Amino acid sequence: MREKIYVGDSNLGFGVFANCPIEPREVIFYVTGPVISLDECLQLPDQGENTFQIGLDAYVNPGYPGKFINHSCEPNAGLIDDTCVIAIRQIVPGEEIRFDYSTAMLERLWELDCRCGSPRCRNKVRDFDLLPIGVKQRLLRLGIVQNFIVEALEELSPLPHNSSKIAAGNV
Ligand SMILES: [Zn+2]
Repeated sequence: MREKIYVGDSNLGFGVFANCPIEPREVIFYVTGPVISLDECLQLPDQGENTFQIGLDAYVNPGYPGKFINHSCEPNAGLIDDTCVIAIRQIVPGEEIRFDYSTAMLERLWELDCRCGSPRCRNKVRDFDLLPIGVKQRLLRLGIVQNFIVEALEELSPLPHNSSKIAAGNV
């Protein structure tokens, strides 16, 4: 079977591109690699720039193709179940696949000047909880925010849907 993606030149260095049409919610690839701690991230030659945060102190140090996926403030893909990259809209062959790095960032360590080129660019890539409320809501609705972040946010300030869940559980 032909691979769904290939790694090629992007305006941000390397990038991951679609090799075929990809439908919304379709699985594109899984991010694979050893799971390491934040301390171990910081000891990597690139200080963990390409790692995917999957827990408060857990990161996947990805191999091909995950290490090559770039960020966009207006992404066509997202992460579910920690390491699964899915499309969030139709993607055409040759289109670069990007996700919003902030959906996998909650650490108060890292910030990046954004050059994604989207008209909706936020200029800085930063921790999820620091995003404008409208952006947060949109990403949460799409279900592409890492589980550990959703859980951490709910601990800070319970979301309305939680209280209804608790109420339903009490019946
Ligand atoms: Zn941007």
